Amino acid sequence: MDIEDLSERVSAGERRALARAITLVESGRADHRAQAAELLAALPQDRQALRIGLSGTPGVGKSTFIESFGMMLIRKGLRVAVLAVDPSSSRSGGSILGDKTRMDLLSREANAFIRPSPSQTHLGGVARRTREAVRLCEAAGFDVVLIETVGVGQSETVVAEMSDLFLLLLAPAGGDELQGVKRGIMEMADIILINKADGDLKAAATRTCADYAGALRLLRKRPQDPEGYPCAMTVSALEENGLEAAWEAMEKLTDWRRSEGWWDRTRAAQARYWFSEDVKQRLLSRLQEPEARAALKALSDEVAAGEADPSVAAQAFVDRLGG
Ligand code: GDP
Repeated sequence: MDIEDLSERVSAGERRALARAITLVESGRADHRAQAAELLAALPQDRQALRIGLSGTPGVGKSTFIESFGMMLIRKGLRVAVLAVDPSSSRSGGSILGDKTRMDLLSREANAFIRPSPSQTHLGGVARRTREAVRLCEAAGFDVVLIETVGVGQSETVVAEMSDLFLLLLAPAGGDELQGVKRGIMEMADIILINKADGDLKAAATRTCADYAGALRLLRKRPQDPEGYPCAMTVSALEENGLEAAWEAMEKLTDWRRSEGWWDRTRAAQARYWFSEDVKQRLLSRLQEPEARAALKALSDEVAAGEADPSVAAQAFVDRLGG
């Protein structure tokens, strides 16, 4: 593969080249990894998109929202990429993007790029691949990269750690319960969007929104937020209501963060986070190598037989691994 050529075509914003580049970074083959590293190094480093993480349980309206919100951004003259992190795709064999006829209009737009989730067993692997795909989309000159995830397990953390903005999409609640949304997830959100604020559901959506606005006010104020954030708003992805207001809220927040230095600080902290995660990942994968496994087994037998102290054996193993 001609990496220089691929790099040039990605930089020129060619979607076909971008798709090929993402396939390359998704591959686990050693020669592909080397080419992917070469490609990432060759691409322009100075382009930044607004990275928007979007989480919500299945059925809440994520794809409908991405479709109408994405189309609105396109009408504003922006180029929009959509990626997904789906930890369940390896189990179901499907993926949250790319099934059904999702994002029908958006997928036909020349200024949109939609990429389904890589099917992967390991969330760490998905994280790296998605992160690299985000970088590729930025290098290809996309203005907004939407990173979608379903609200399960660790996937929100993964997406929040690679986003400039994190949106939580919720449905109107029937009663007055806060839908069992975990506090940790709520704390990650910059903007909570109560979707389906239309027709019969409108009143419930307004009530739910007020409940969340109240709950958000009780959270500790974060330094990266101006007054009034995080906030809760109602939208109807289906009827395309509230999307302009939501975009304004996002722009206001990111403008403030840029001017206060939080944009750069957050990206720097995220880079540190991913560096340390990657180091851990690499060390863990070294434990899977046959030699390491044999050494572990032998030391573990010694420890079990009372022939060696657990800490001393662990130290001996780590020393050997480092050497
Ligand atoms: P996802 O699984 O989170 O991607 O959800 P979908 O976008 O596939 O939507 C699930 C269902 O909710 C579909 O039947 C949508 O038509 C419906 N839906 C999505 N957004 C809205 C909305 O704003 N209002 C109403 N009434 N229904 C919606």
